[in-house]
Amino acid sequence: MKVARFQHEGEISYGILDRAEEGDRVEVVELANDPLLGSYDTTGRRLRLDEVRLLAPVIPRSKVVCVGKNYADHVEEMKGVTGGDAPPEEPLLFLKPNTSVIGPGDAIVRPAISHRVEHEGELAVVIGALAKEVPVERALEVVYGFTCANDVTARDLQISDGQWARAKGFDTFCPLGPVIETDLDLADATIETRVNGEVRQRSSTAHLIHSVAAIVAHASQAFTLLPGDVILTGTPAGVGLLEPGDTVEVEIEGIGTLRNTVA
Ligand code: MG
Repeated sequence: MKVARFQHEGEISYGILDRAEEGDRVEVVELANDPLLGSYDTTGRRLRLDEVRLLAPVIPRSKVVCVGKNYADHVEEMKGVTGGDAPPEEPLLFLKPNTSVIGPGDAIVRPAISHRVEHEGELAVVIGALAKEVPVERALEVVYGFTCANDVTARDLQISDGQWARAKGFDTFCPLGPVIETDLDLADATIETRVNGEVRQRSSTAHLIHSVAAIVAHASQAFTLLPGDVILTGTPAGVGLLEPGDTVEVEIEGIGTLRNTVA
């Protein structure tokens, strides 16, 4: 099931994507409430996708947890750049503030104090239940679904600050969307990042060093995870510069394409 959050005629609603009864057009079935918070009802209204503006499918209630260096080829390309030359034995965690989240179509704004803003296409996990110290065998039970994310990074500030809070935490530095897929097959989903149509990053969830279940379990050792919290699972090799006017896309097989421009 693909869950969307959208704006239509000034009102924000949740919906589920569905094929139209005739033709192969995709429509949005409007919901009466946020499905992430429990059971839901439809309002009976169906809207065409081109009638609505898709928003970030979730506004993280308290935090965006991120994992650094979780693909071997990215660990390799970061050697000598951000410190630590071997893949971390445990998931390396950091946080982005929920104020960094934007939706599909929104502009990534480069801060004037950075001259090296880079894309990092990532699989994002949306938490669906309160979780603390969840064992790895039960970790997927607290996952609601998955979406695409871009862990936008001011690489120059990440290097000069020596830690990552500011470089990863600017407003607009966490695009999420376009929808939450609740039934993603994690075994081998292709993840691709394109800038102006050119492929910059291409990998598969098969290459995650720490699995989604291991990451959720590990994060819940440190933080109480709340419904609507989001966990970014790391980026593969190929990170690179974003320039004003660029269009950056993160596409994950089975979810869709998250597209943003750079202001
Ligand atoms: Mg990242």
